[in-house]
Amino acid sequence: MTQRINTVLSIPEPRTAALIDKPYPVITSGFVIVEVAIAPVCNEARIYRDHQFEWHDSPTHLGHEGVGTIVETAPGSRFDAGDRVIVFQGNSCQKCFVCTQGLSPTHCLGIPYEGHTDGMAPQDVTAGLLGIERVNGSKSGGFGMVQFRIAPEHMIVRLPDDLRFEHAAAGNCTLGPSFTACEEFGVGAGDVVLVGGVGFIGLGAVANALYRGATVIVLGRHQYRMDLCRTLGVHAIIDPADPDWLQQVHAVTGDRKGADVAFECSGAPYYLERCLSGLRRYGKLYSLGHSGSERYSLSILNDLMDRHIFWTGGHDVRFRDRDGLLRMMGDAAVQRSIDTIVTHDLPMSRAAEAFEAGLSKNCGKIFLRPGS
Ligand SMILES: [Zn+2]
Ligand SMILES: [Zn+2]
Repeated sequence: MTQRINTVLSIPEPRTAALIDKPYPVITSGFVIVEVAIAPVCNEARIYRDHQFEWHDSPTHLGHEGVGTIVETAPGSRFDAGDRVIVFQGNSCQKCFVCTQGLSPTHCLGIPYEGHTDGMAPQDVTAGLLGIERVNGSKSGGFGMVQFRIAPEHMIVRLPDDLRFEHAAAGNCTLGPSFTACEEFGVGAGDVVLVGGVGFIGLGAVANALYRGATVIVLGRHQYRMDLCRTLGVHAIIDPADPDWLQQVHAVTGDRKGADVAFECSGAPYYLERCLSGLRRYGKLYSLGHSGSERYSLSILNDLMDRHIFWTGGHDVRFRDRDGLLRMMGDAAVQRSIDTIVTHDLPMSRAAEAFEAGLSKNCGKIFLRPGS
């Protein structure tokens, strides 16, 4: 009998991507095997360039987003083979206060962020993706850029029959984190939302804010991406290098003198600074982008207290927001936005081309198809 294999994406060295064969996954109770239809590209283009991995990635363990069809369940599963699902990232503990209050799984206490300075051993963190392979005793499948993926049952949600994979795949890092950000900040009609540092996360933030009826101002200057913003229907695009960029923001926000909410989507100090300045008093800043563990300095008095700014950040979708996110992705206008944001859809065998497109910035979101 021929051994079943799993095709897995690898980035063995900078600017090289290859498909490798690993043993087909094995699962234990509480997990399913999903045949991945779409594995969206997130931080992997940067990894392809720098070969610097986050604590949960490695050269043969890449990707955390995805949608697909269940091909195998463990005994006692509440899912069936044939179910179409979205896979949310990680393997949270389901016991801590974050998990039991329906908050975001990437903040689960099972992930010892506070131990970062001591160095983390990712395979020991069961709440992370490498931990998925360890707890299942599997040699593959814990990650997104694979043909067959192991998913914890509490991290998958069945897709409505009429929601296509191409739209559902935006529920991970494209629309997901900014959906939760909009919920946390209560973004609605009448709000002015400033979006700075626009890549696919920023494009997703724009789509979320427009869906809620907010007025959207984009701070950006990359031509290709500004064209995407224009197609999405933003109300204003302001070049952050213009000497009067702040006056241009105030021209939109009127006598409040600043946006109600800012989504900073790059982590670049340049945009952070402008997002903070572009907020009104009592405005709220949500960081959706970062540049690793780099620090950022600000004046507690001038930047936060005097202007009474609220600032937080996050990486993913709260458990409690999954239902609303899926319903939003069923909306026809949101689906048109997703069709605009997703600019590349390539077989995983052409991953290098996909990552080069990502690095060029002449793209929105990029999808990979592991089965081809
Ligand atoms: Zn992602
Ligand atoms: Zn937890």
